[in-house]
Amino acid sequence: MTKPHAIVILTGAGISAESGIDTFRGGGGLWEQHRVEDVATPEAFARDPELVLRFYDMRRAAIQTKASNAAHVALGRLEREWPKRVPGGEVTVVTQNVDDLHERGGSLNVIHMHGEHLSAWCTACDARHRWTGPLLDRPRCPACGTRALRPDIVWFGEIPYRMDAIQTALAEADLFVSIGTSGAVYPAAGFVRLARELGLQTLELNLERSQGSTWFHETRLGPATELVTNWVDTLLA
Ligand code: NAD
Repeated sequence: MTKPHAIVILTGAGISAESGIDTFRGGGGLWEQHRVEDVATPEAFARDPELVLRFYDMRRAAIQTKASNAAHVALGRLEREWPKRVPGGEVTVVTQNVDDLHERGGSLNVIHMHGEHLSAWCTACDARHRWTGPLLDRPRCPACGTRALRPDIVWFGEIPYRMDAIQTALAEADLFVSIGTSGAVYPAAGFVRLARELGLQTLELNLERSQGSTWFHETRLGPATELVTNWVDTLLA
């Protein structure tokens, strides 16, 4: 492989697993004891807003008790060091995760395509606010004063954020790396095919082969804390 310049890294729930945050498909078809369709769709929110808000209030509180792990920290280091090693070096993290562990691991250039636990979105005025407390008590939007805040999460059936920026980053990159994602949720699951069409090198780091594993030039299997740290060490050596 020729030395890459711009790197796009897609991450999924697997990179946060060793921080103690449940993955999506790890719990025998349930996510944190709930069926996805009961808590992670706009229809669920319309049907039973209290259930959905309570669920996300618990998740928002829980992630604040967790810490980033060695894999997040390694990606933060890569983003800082890579431009010093390679002319035009750039690292973009595209995450499906709604936790903030990449940021706490030192990454700055992070696209949260599925939203963020620590953000609330006002459906009345479209403002977004950093939010660490509960939403169940229907607090007022700090911008417009209405009580129309919801979790700033892209639910199933909604359109992921910043797809244009992701496609531009892929078009300008030479290496695509996928870490800890099952390859079951689209459009993220399709990024490896797009990367191949654009001529990028592709690498998968995961505990087990993802559904799109055959699209990758190379797959390395193991826990993210080990694989990502080793990969970053080698790249920066
Ligand atoms: P997923 O649960 O479908 O798949 C997780 C993947 O991570 C699996 O392929 C598994 O083999 C791998 N994995 C598990 N432990 C690992 C480890 N220690 N090291 C490396 N890989 C490991 O997750 P997904 O593909 O991200 O899709 C699920 C959806 O659920 C996403 O849209 C995401 O928004 C949401 N989600 C987010 C979080 C979070 O923010 N931390 C947690 C759960 C679910």
